[in-house]
Amino acid sequence: MVIIVGAGLVGSVLAIRLSQLGINVQLLEKNSYQKPSKKDGRTIAVTLGSKKFLEKCELWQDLEPTSQPINEIRVFEQETAWTLDYDHKDLGPDPMGYIIEFDVLLKAMHKKVKTSKKIKILDNCTLECLSPGKVHTKEYGILKAALVVGADGRNSWVRNQVNIKSTSKEYGHKALVAHFTHEKPHQATAWEIFQPSGPFAILPMRDTPKGQPQSGIVWCGPKDAPWETIPTPQLEEQLMDLFPFYGKVTLNSQRWTFPITALTVDKVTASRTVLVGDAAHALHPIAGQGVNLGWRDVEHLTTVLQEALEVGGDLGGFHHLKEYARRRKIDHKSLYFFTDGLTRLYSIDNEFVSFLRQTGLAVVGKIPPLKKFFMKKAMGI
Ligand SMILES: Cc1cc2nc3c(=O)[nH]c(=O)nc-3n(C[C@H](O)[C@H](O)[C@H](O)COP(=O)(O)OP(=O)(O)OC[C@H]3O[C@@H](n4cnc5c(N)ncnc54)[C@H](O)[C@@H]3O)c2cc1C
Repeated sequence: MVIIVGAGLVGSVLAIRLSQLGINVQLLEKNSYQKPSKKDGRTIAVTLGSKKFLEKCELWQDLEPTSQPINEIRVFEQETAWTLDYDHKDLGPDPMGYIIEFDVLLKAMHKKVKTSKKIKILDNCTLECLSPGKVHTKEYGILKAALVVGADGRNSWVRNQVNIKSTSKEYGHKALVAHFTHEKPHQATAWEIFQPSGPFAILPMRDTPKGQPQSGIVWCGPKDAPWETIPTPQLEEQLMDLFPFYGKVTLNSQRWTFPITALTVDKVTASRTVLVGDAAHALHPIAGQGVNLGWRDVEHLTTVLQEALEVGGDLGGFHHLKEYARRRKIDHKSLYFFTDGLTRLYSIDNEFVSFLRQTGLAVVGKIPPLKKFFMKKAMGI
């Protein structure tokens, strides 16, 4: 038996993968599993590597009809002519990734979880305390398992209970998320625009039911940006000033804002306990990699547990958890430093540094092996 705390995008997929291996799972969630939670407008960039993983989880057939392929990624610094252009054809016929709405992903996962006989959903759950292999809950009493997995997000209760130290990084920024329709088609292109006030991403979505081209934005900027209150026509004007390439744009959703913080942890395991997803690492959304990294945690943890089963071992055994920690270390650290470094590099408002950044983009664009290396990283392959 494995207990998973948190039925978000990472915990739900872990439950599905473990159930496919024949492992019994108790999935604990503080919110209701039946009532839809409030809408979350994030447009999640799913890498090609993650798409292949979601196929293995038998989730992709439900997601495919609503996913928008990304065939090209363009990166540039505002008010400069240099761009870096990643075209999927440089690597083969597959798209570089897909955009899927957060709610669509979660709904597909919850649907699959509910059909599994191996997964017991314990929702509306209040957790009281944790000791190795034992979770005390208010509603369901004491639950026992060989392993407890913390998939409970960046403010992880599990992490606090086992005293794993975390370091949070405040950027003093927030991200505005919204959906817009626009005059011109997006041609399956994702854009990343760097500016000193914060990065801006415009991500292609499926056309609306009326056939209008549509995109989602992630606009990072100062905490006091008036995005929640600014009248819609002004917001649309600002967007067109920043990004004039799609013609007239029209807000097509409510607005969501998210604080931007990053987080690292000292370790990802404790006695009979392991952390996955945002509980183990939270990234600046600049590169759209957070949940992709979390799904790679799931892939590696599942492999380690499968290996434990094959040798008749203990699923929460020290050596298996140590092996999981070893396999995840470089991926966690490198993506954290890459996203954090990129954010800091582009926040410097200085002509010389700007020249160096543009030269860097140009160099990457002109050296095919270097360009392919970065493309493969972005595609999670
Ligand atoms: C603006 C924005 C855009 C992003 N875009 C991308 C993108 O394009 N691509 C990408 O890969 N990533 C993206 N991310 C990151 C991604 O959203 C997160 O990495 C991902 O959602 C983390 O999933 P999780 O399941 O680990 O954690 P969470 O989503 O935080 O889920 C945790 C779950 O645990 C439950 N829980 C919490 N505490 C308890 C408790 N005490 N008891 C029981 N249950 C509990 C919660 O209710 C929740 O269901 C973006 C993030 C932001 C903010």
